[in-house]
Amino acid sequence: MNTERDQLKDKPKDESFRDRMVTIDEKGKRKWIFAQRPKGKFYNIRTYVSWGFFIIFFGLPFIYINGRPLFLFNIPEAKFIIFGKIFWPQDFFIFGLTMITFIVFIILFTAAFGRLFCGWVCPQTIFMEMLFRKVEYMIEGNAPSQKLLKKSPWTGKKIFKKTTKHVAFFLLSFIIANFFLSYIIGVKQLGKIISDPLAAHFGGFTAIIIFSGVFYGVYAYFREQACTVVCPYGRLQGVLLDRNSMIVAYDYKRGEPRGKFKKNPVATEAGDCIDCFQCIKVCPTGIDIRNGTQMECVGCTACIDACDTMMKAVNKPIGLIRYASENGIANGKKLRYTSRMKFYTVLLVLLSGLLTILLLSRKDVDGTIIRAAGMLYQERGADSVSNLYNIKIINKTIKDIPLTLKLEDAPGRIIEAEGRSIAVSKEGQGKGSFFIVLPNNIIRERKLKLRVGLYEGDKKIITLATNFMGPVYRGNTN
Ligand code: SF4
Ligand code: SF4
Repeated sequence: MNTERDQLKDKPKDESFRDRMVTIDEKGKRKWIFAQRPKGKFYNIRTYVSWGFFIIFFGLPFIYINGRPLFLFNIPEAKFIIFGKIFWPQDFFIFGLTMITFIVFIILFTAAFGRLFCGWVCPQTIFMEMLFRKVEYMIEGNAPSQKLLKKSPWTGKKIFKKTTKHVAFFLLSFIIANFFLSYIIGVKQLGKIISDPLAAHFGGFTAIIIFSGVFYGVYAYFREQACTVVCPYGRLQGVLLDRNSMIVAYDYKRGEPRGKFKKNPVATEAGDCIDCFQCIKVCPTGIDIRNGTQMECVGCTACIDACDTMMKAVNKPIGLIRYASENGIANGKKLRYTSRMKFYTVLLVLLSGLLTILLLSRKDVDGTIIRAAGMLYQERGADSVSNLYNIKIINKTIKDIPLTLKLEDAPGRIIEAEGRSIAVSKEGQGKGSFFIVLPNNIIRERKLKLRVGLYEGDKKIITLATNFMGPVYRGNTN
């Protein structure tokens, strides 16, 4: 028999809330979210996680291996260092594959664990909730005091609080901007920008100011919109999540029909939700998790803590809002390892294997040899022919390498155009020009394949392939 409670649970849900954004009012104006400070088990654990994040974020730029930073993402110079290994544009396929592997990992991870990343380790969430929001609570108080302050006239106290907050926000943004830049140019270069006269590094200084301004704008004003409007990962949740993904979910089976808490309830049909709105008040994106899965939910767990506190206060079991899947809530099913997850796992293992092979077989010195554009060949006297080549070499090691060229498997010779070996400085690129001279009698085709060895002293570093163009002399044909 269907009880009144079951009928209420089964009635069609009003989904009209999905037609508009919580943070925009009817006139299209921004509605400011005054998120209440969360308290509880998850908030405490997230605080510890954020400390770990801060140690890593602010500590990594100082870690150097063999004179190289552990990580560097120098986009202007197209130079990337990952775990102390340097990557140049020539390694782009490895870098691209790393990115693809990372994306597959994110897809798989999201399909299984929802927005765990957003809530727990995303820098945007951590800086916003665990740094800027905490500073805000310290200066302006909890959400109700912030609301009052906003409505109050501009007294000396309000001016003082607002100025202190924004100065603190800008200083924090400035510090973050410096560290952010150190991931691009390295902490040593950053040190020079800070210590040298301004005119010597005007570009670097401008970058610091621009980054500081962007971070300040994001954390002081833009806030949750970065997650709900801009972040592509957030926008993709609709396709990445399925009904078996783990999300922060409201147990409507248990919670509905909701109703205000009564010490001595007359009806026994009421659900466990006491309609206290605490889950909404703490939500940094301002949503009502009781409406179901929403793209705006960043999985921060603040509503879990808030609801658990209320459940304890009214002597009901905690977990009315908890980590669960939609199917788990609807059918009492446990989290499953779906076929989609299996497919992603296989893909991830394959890509990781390929990436490992590429990384292991990656050469420390690499380069290309191409024939000089617009030149065919030069006849040298009656018995030989030469071709002019350009060579580009990349040295990914941390030592300078003077390289000499030798022709492999052919009886010709190499004449370096500048009459010396090609010196390639550490972590640098070298280029040069040279002739390959071959005797007429070995040129049996118009286009010969040749191999050139690059030697450091007697040690062969690498072999590069190229072509030789020449006339096929009478008598050379088979
Ligand atoms: S609904 Fe809950 S988990 Fe989602 S953003 Fe709001 S408070 Fe965080
Ligand atoms: S905090 Fe819990 S009890 Fe209160 S409204 Fe939200 S779901 Fe209901």
